[in-house]
Amino acid sequence: MSERIALYPGSFDPPTLGHIDLIHRARRIFDRVIVAVAINEAKTALFTVEERIQMLEEELNSSPDIVVTSFIGLSVEFAKKCGAQALIRGLRVLSDFEFELSLAINNQKLDPTIDTVCLMPSEPYLFLSSRQVKEIVRFGGSVSHYVSPRIEQKLRERLLSK
Ligand code: ADP
Repeated sequence: MSERIALYPGSFDPPTLGHIDLIHRARRIFDRVIVAVAINEAKTALFTVEERIQMLEEELNSSPDIVVTSFIGLSVEFAKKCGAQALIRGLRVLSDFEFELSLAINNQKLDPTIDTVCLMPSEPYLFLSSRQVKEIVRFGGSVSHYVSPRIEQKLRERLLSK
């Protein structure tokens, strides 16, 4: 049987323990997981694409079956290029569902051969998003339950040293 590959696209600005949890879950189902930072000029990011790739690589300890990269354009097109059969997305709370469902259906229309696999994180990460992590740090709170010490440090440097 051919290798089963999944593409996990996202902003990862910054990567949280919720993202990492999902990547390891996906790796248990797929032979290879490609984690790809989506380059989207319409969105303002705190960290550059290169910084986000480096952070993901550090978090993932260079596991041979998990590759980190970036891409511009449609996820399904990049998935096809990588030989991936599926896209990984995360479902936390009910409000994610509507967005992820419409994204999945639109992607299905673009390429019916690529399926979307939604995974749920472990419970401590259900209410965790990169956006909220940035807000907590900006107002001086601790996010040690949500990101690695390395990433918390980078957030503090970026958000508090002005
Ligand atoms: P995007 O801009 O594509 O939403 P994110 O990095 O915010 O980028 O999220 C990428 C994917 O990871 C999305 O499907 C999102 O729902 C999922 N995700 C983000 N945080 C978590 C988490 N704590 N638990 C599970 N899934 C998550």
